[in-house]
Amino acid sequence: MSASTFQNHSLINSFVIGIDIGGTNTRIGLVNTLGEIVSDSRIDTPLFFSANLFLEALALEVDFFFKAGHKILGIGIGAPSVNLKSEMIENAANLNWEGPLAVTHFLKNRFQVPVAITNDANLMVLAHQYFGKIKYEHFVVVTLGTGVGSGICCNGMLLNGRDGFAGEVGHLIVEPLGRSCHCGRQGCLETYSSANGIKRSIMMLMAQKYGSEDVFKDIKINELDTKVIAELASKGNQIAIEAFHLAGTMLGAALANFVVLFNPEIIFLTGGVTNAGSLLFGPTIEAFNQSLLNVYPEAIPIEQSVFGESEGAVLGAASLIWNTYDTTNN
Ligand SMILES: [Zn+2]
Repeated sequence: MSASTFQNHSLINSFVIGIDIGGTNTRIGLVNTLGEIVSDSRIDTPLFFSANLFLEALALEVDFFFKAGHKILGIGIGAPSVNLKSEMIENAANLNWEGPLAVTHFLKNRFQVPVAITNDANLMVLAHQYFGKIKYEHFVVVTLGTGVGSGICCNGMLLNGRDGFAGEVGHLIVEPLGRSCHCGRQGCLETYSSANGIKRSIMMLMAQKYGSEDVFKDIKINELDTKVIAELASKGNQIAIEAFHLAGTMLGAALANFVVLFNPEIIFLTGGVTNAGSLLFGPTIEAFNQSLLNVYPEAIPIEQSVFGESEGAVLGAASLIWNTYDTTNN
């Protein structure tokens, strides 16, 4: 699908703007045909009290790239809760504004270039499909950040489902009657394997096993993040090691269930939590291998994605345009 793009020299000085609209920030990147983000900017999404103010701020950032004289082929957008039929953002829980947001229509009118939009959960799969060095037909990308999300590519097709919510792996129940989740149920994967889940494990282990003797008692809860926890784990702190072990064990078992459903050839992990490296990957792969159904003839690798969470989202958004452009040129 995309290999021809890299040989298409007429596109070498052309760019696509990729936009990832998120609850915390919105990232805008200028993406070339090789999948490099040559320039980017960011706006704080919650700063804007109305959808119109946000759209104007977004247009200002986009306009900056146009005014710089770049040849821009179009704009690709990833956002939460996108209605793929109306192309509007509808009732996104983590955005401030109520009612549908017609960001696609707005940018199309303003800049007179093609604009495409998709759900943010799809972006990592799109980044791999279009810009990945090796093209896989069957793969899963799991993002471990504040929450846990995933995208699924099966038989070369990105799975959306009826409502666009396929691949909500964060809310796969891995422990019936387990930890309470913000979705209202109990035992969801992200209550164990997300950054917040790992913090909850620290609290639980402090209370259950180690009392107040541990170094964690001196760290304020709002200063605690997976980077700090990983540093302590690498120095041998048992609470930190156990928190990652639990996160990986739950994740590995969940991924084995994913394999039963989708039979992927590879599983990619990305997101801030994966920066812990072997602290997470070790127990994940161990639990995965222990839980995997014994019918698959070849090993299914679990690898860190080459695309970071933020970078992958912008590239995935940009691929919405690069993809169509590529097709029309071949
Ligand atoms: Zn849940």
